[in-house]
Amino acid sequence: MTADVNRQWRVARYPKQEEIIGPEHFDWTSEPIPQPEDGEFLVRTLCLAPVPAQRGYLEKSHNSFLGNIEIGDVMRGRGVGQIIKSRHPDYAEGDIFVGSLGWQDYSIQHPRGTEFVFSSKRVRHPISPLSTELSILGQAGATAYFGLLEVGQMKAGENVLVSAAAGGVGSAAGQIARIRGAKQVVGIAGSEAKCKWLVDELGYDAVINYKMENTGERIAELFPDGIDVFFDNVGGDILNAALANLAMHARVVICGFISTDYSPGPHYGPINYQCIVYKRARIEGFIVFDYWDRYEEAKQDLLSWFREGLLKNTEDEDDGLEKMPESLASLFRGGNTGVKICRVSPDPDIFS
Ligand code: NAP
Repeated sequence: MTADVNRQWRVARYPKQEEIIGPEHFDWTSEPIPQPEDGEFLVRTLCLAPVPAQRGYLEKSHNSFLGNIEIGDVMRGRGVGQIIKSRHPDYAEGDIFVGSLGWQDYSIQHPRGTEFVFSSKRVRHPISPLSTELSILGQAGATAYFGLLEVGQMKAGENVLVSAAAGGVGSAAGQIARIRGAKQVVGIAGSEAKCKWLVDELGYDAVINYKMENTGERIAELFPDGIDVFFDNVGGDILNAALANLAMHARVVICGFISTDYSPGPHYGPINYQCIVYKRARIEGFIVFDYWDRYEEAKQDLLSWFREGLLKNTEDEDDGLEKMPESLASLFRGGNTGVKICRVSPDPDIFS
């Protein structure tokens, strides 16, 4: 549907540390559609990507690099939209735009260049569906790409383990490892259906259901020569189990730590950290925006793999802006297979 007012989710209160995020933390409001001034343009939101980091934005004492969101602000979120009114000479009506649109139907935007996370930009050669700008060709794909290949320095012939493997970033990371010639790609996920999907659809060599199996024992079984690259989205016990099974000179890529997001803390470090010394391993965290000036490099590879049919776009779509809080909450319950996308209005017919 296309709204004739600007419906918005505004922050009503910050969640407590152990509290599941949900609709009660937001107010559903509406206001007239804003009008652009000189140098600005109006963007209609087509789709948004709820991501686990959005919960972190709402921690009162959070140390997010993005700065605080105040009570009453429109919730921050990345999305794809179409410019429907422009008072900027370089941004035409009809252009597709990706960036920080917020949880709302319409937003006023202006050019921001490659300015940090707000690297909002016109999509020069859009492909269908436009949501790929948020998934395989967007933040999820780029995070997997730079995390695995730059931070993890993965080489052909290596053994790779990915946690939260059926999630947005994880589903891309495993596929990229396979495309780049990993000897073995193993994924960890939280259901039998996800594990089957990873093997049947994405070409993972083996999987571990961390809710049903002894993760440490299974890792040891599957990696008799040790893990060369561990792409970790989860932290906690899964990180501990992987550290105990590293190969010599292994790289541990810390992408996220979703298993400890709700724990009231203090957050203890990994218990098997001695293995980093024994195995001369490296453990390194990263933020995808560290690599944002090289985004086009990732996009070129991701796009050609996608076009060749080597890389599948994995999207799990919810319908309606009104679903956003629930869509975000579902990520912490394993309610997504692939990149969670929330559809706000239909893609315009720009491809015929
Ligand atoms: P996602 O994987 O699509 O969604 C989260 C998944 O994590 C869920 O589907 C769930 O799958 C799993 N999960 C939830 N709670 C868990 C727990 N307690 N233990 C184990 N697994 C759990 O999310 P994403 O957007 O791709 O992000 C993945 C991670 O990467 C997040 O931690 C995120 O913050 C981080 N990230 C980092 C960067 C960066 O620049 N460093 C960029 C993007 C994302 P199961 O059903 O398998 O449990």
